[in-house]
Amino acid sequence: MLQQTQAARVAPAFVRFVARYPSIQELASAPRADVVRAWIGLGYNRRAVALSEAARAIVRDHGGVVPSEPAALIRLPGVGPYTASAVASIAHGAPVAAVDTNVRRVVARVTFGVVLLGAAEGEVRAAADRWLDRRDPGGWNQAMMDLGRDVCRPVPRCSACPLASVCAFRARGGVPSVRSRRQPPFQGSFRQVRGAVVAALRDVRSATLASLSRTTQERLDRVAAAARALVAEGLVRADPAALSGRPAGRVRLA
Ligand code: SF4
Repeated sequence: MLQQTQAARVAPAFVRFVARYPSIQELASAPRADVVRAWIGLGYNRRAVALSEAARAIVRDHGGVVPSEPAALIRLPGVGPYTASAVASIAHGAPVAAVDTNVRRVVARVTFGVVLLGAAEGEVRAAADRWLDRRDPGGWNQAMMDLGRDVCRPVPRCSACPLASVCAFRARGGVPSVRSRRQPPFQGSFRQVRGAVVAALRDVRSATLASLSRTTQERLDRVAAAARALVAEGLVRADPAALSGRPAGRVRLA
């Protein structure tokens, strides 16, 4: 839930979700459409599909117990290297560094004195693993995330940093390159259309493209394209007429 959604929005949604699906087994046996409906307010509906599929894989392949090994976690739908390492270290104490964008920036600056890009990612990861406090990997990883988010920002606050005396970047008098990481605008985007279609389908068994176009106030061709994209993502089912973009074609949550 925390992938790309703010913690303040996740907190109440998490409580509601866990009250509804208190076990992996119950989540795994829930219809996909119900899980997507329970995802209201969390954005990125693909993650609801991935979570549903991950729960099914955990029940099928791991006896209903979330695996503790990063190698097993990373094979679950929706789980990448960062999430696998974060779950393994924070939930199970596995000695692996969880390297997200913020942590990568801290490690690169402290160890190499620069902000390393792309090709050096493996090097940063290896340095992060060497640096890890193996007595408390989960606590260490969370501290590194906090430091990268609050102190070692793109424009760093070195005077407030507990690592200032050992940081190679600081020692070199490094000047950060300030790059805009603004996301493309949501308003008017294709992502907005997809989200509006899913929201409209939450309250009905199925709907035609024409009615979805009216409900979402989007052009029919944009609604049809969104429906095709959602079918490809496993969120929606569509009949052949809807797949060819005809107004009477019907779609519903998968
Ligand atoms: S001293 Fe500055 S550059 Fe180095 S880790 Fe701290 S905030 Fe980042």
